[in-house]
Amino acid sequence: MIICDQLYLFAFVDYIFVNLRTIFLNLYSNTNMNTEYISPDYYLLDEWFSDEHKIIRGSIRDWVNRDVKPIIEEAAQAHQFPKHLINGLGSIGAFGSFIPEKYGGAGLDHIAYGLIMQELERGDSAVRSAASVQSSLVMYPIHEFGSEEQKRKYLPKLATGEMIGCFGLTEPNHGSDPASMETHVIDNGDHYILNGSKMWITNSSISDIALVWAKDDQGFVRGMIVEKGMKGFSAPETKNKWSLRASVTGELVFDEVKVPKENVLPNILGLKGALMCLNSARYGIA
Ligand SMILES: Cc1cc2nc3c(=O)[nH]c(=O)nc-3n(C[C@H](O)[C@H](O)[C@H](O)COP(=O)(O)OP(=O)(O)OC[C@H]3O[C@@H](n4cnc5c(N)ncnc54)[C@H](O)[C@@H]3O)c2cc1C
Repeated sequence: MIICDQLYLFAFVDYIFVNLRTIFLNLYSNTNMNTEYISPDYYLLDEWFSDEHKIIRGSIRDWVNRDVKPIIEEAAQAHQFPKHLINGLGSIGAFGSFIPEKYGGAGLDHIAYGLIMQELERGDSAVRSAASVQSSLVMYPIHEFGSEEQKRKYLPKLATGEMIGCFGLTEPNHGSDPASMETHVIDNGDHYILNGSKMWITNSSISDIALVWAKDDQGFVRGMIVEKGMKGFSAPETKNKWSLRASVTGELVFDEVKVPKENVLPNILGLKGALMCLNSARYGIA
């Protein structure tokens, strides 16, 4: 009986503590308990952000609340990426926000990029994935390692969402160890012949271009832009994922694809290029 009384007492104290903590957190985060939950700023990060950063964050949050939250549950249940959001993502500057304005980007810093990704993630990881792949894994390498012609041809369209891109690094037998990739190109004069396959590729089947990493004749990893419609290139979607269900994931299959040499990124050689892209993507994932 005494033990039982003590358990009730512990449970009661725990109940009071949890509720006081919730009330405190809600007051601290300056929100009404009947409204949407806003996470408290435990590390006082807001002190580091400029007014511009906060305005950007607020405008993306508004867009997510208005355009993403009401539809995302249904999209996830249906295992379908809400493609109609692409125009909106382009217009709010979520594609390549750090790319200079002369190539269609917003010319913002990487803190702003991180905040934009954080707000998209608040809506759904799938929406953030689509935007961070387009930004860090497609626009970033074209801007960083591409020729002037490649930058002018692809970046402005990727920034508006008129064009969608994906990033092909992971292979069926080589995920964590991309250096062992089997996808390769053979030099054939003014073009390369590309063979191999990639899997778990975000945006695969909705992409107009794929930024593909493949080994050349000498075993160096090269980055190249493979365009939808090139003979021998297909991008089948992976069905029945258990997670990230509102995101498009699929394969990239290359069967003797002729890739013009002007589509190869001229300013990078080796796996370092792909890994630099993944570093940029960390702003959107961490
Ligand atoms: C939803 C989704 C979207 C993705 N989008 C893309 C994309 O757009 N482009 C792209 O290129 N890739 C993409 N990927 C692939 C992703 O980058 C890989 O899944 C990742 O690199 C891991 O590879 P893997 O799945 O083959 O796992 P594995 O390499 O098989 O690893 C499985 C487990 O074993 C562990 N492990 C592996 N090697 C070792 C080791 N040597 N020592 C100890 N532990 C080890 C890993 O940490 C992991 O826990 C995506 C994946 C998912 C799930």
